[in-house]
Amino acid sequence: MIRISGGRIEIRVPKIPPPFPSRVYATTVWPFVFYEPQVWDDECVQLHERQHWIDQIKWLVVPWLIVYLLLSIKYGGGRRHPLEKKAYEAQDRCNERSVNVAPNS
Ligand SMILES: [Zn+2]
Repeated sequence: MIRISGGRIEIRVPKIPPPFPSRVYATTVWPFVFYEPQVWDDECVQLHERQHWIDQIKWLVVPWLIVYLLLSIKYGGGRRHPLEKKAYEAQDRCNERSVNVAPNS
C-alpha cells in the first residue's frame, strides 16, 4: 500500500529490511518513508519519520545518510544518536497526548 502525504511517498512494507536492525519499524530514505503494518497508522511514528524527512531535505539525502551511519558507529541507532534527538522529542510529545507506546523507528 502506498499513500502520498505532504510530498512524502509513504509505503507499507511487511518488514523493514537489513541493514536496519529488526527492532526498527519505520524508516525514511527521502523521498520515501517505509512503515511496517503495526505502525502504518501511528501518528507519533509518522511525526518521528517526518523529522528525518525534513532533515534529509535540508542536508540532502546522501550526506545525511553518510553522517547518520558514521554517528551510528559511536552512538548506535537509538535515542542516543544525535540525529534521532528531535525525532524522538516529536514522537514523545505526541505519545504524551495519546495512550500508544512508541515503537522504535
Ligand atoms: Zn528515527
